[in-house]
Amino acid sequence: MPYQNILVAVDLGVTTDTVADRAAQLAQQNRAQLHVLHVIEPLAITYGGDIPMDFSAIQDEIHSQAKEQLNKLCDALSVPSANRHLATGRPETEIPTQARSGNCDLIIVGSHARWGLALLLGSTTDGVMHSADCDVLAVKVDTDG
Ligand code: AMP
Repeated sequence: MPYQNILVAVDLGVTTDTVADRAAQLAQQNRAQLHVLHVIEPLAITYGGDIPMDFSAIQDEIHSQAKEQLNKLCDALSVPSANRHLATGRPETEIPTQARSGNCDLIIVGSHARWGLALLLGSTTDGVMHSADCDVLAVKVDTDG
């Protein structure tokens, strides 16, 4: 049975176009709705509350830049506004949550080669695979960097 609602999670980094293009291609082949999600990680999470500072202005700026980049990507892929999603939290939690609330039957993420500490810590993709209720496709996006 073809997929009906595909969610692609994008970190808005250099590999985003590769992952998003693959998702758009699969959505077209399956005649599925394409949803695009970017998750903003709160600075308080990133720095564990260690720095006693008010991050709200920086956080607002990050939010508006992320929105602009997400809209640019979605315009290029002709993704309707209702299918563009910005969430705040941890990507490995927010991606499966969005998939459930949007009744998505396939999640697409990027998969990077990992070494050393990064390998020990695990990737967003590992976290998504463990908590998703639907299929997960990891698109290989190895870069030199
Ligand atoms: P990483 O854990 O950094 O190797 O990321 C693997 C993949 O998880 C990325 O290619 C994206 O598909 C997804 N991902 C990571 N961070 C985010 C984020 N902040 N928002 C949405 N998707 C993300």
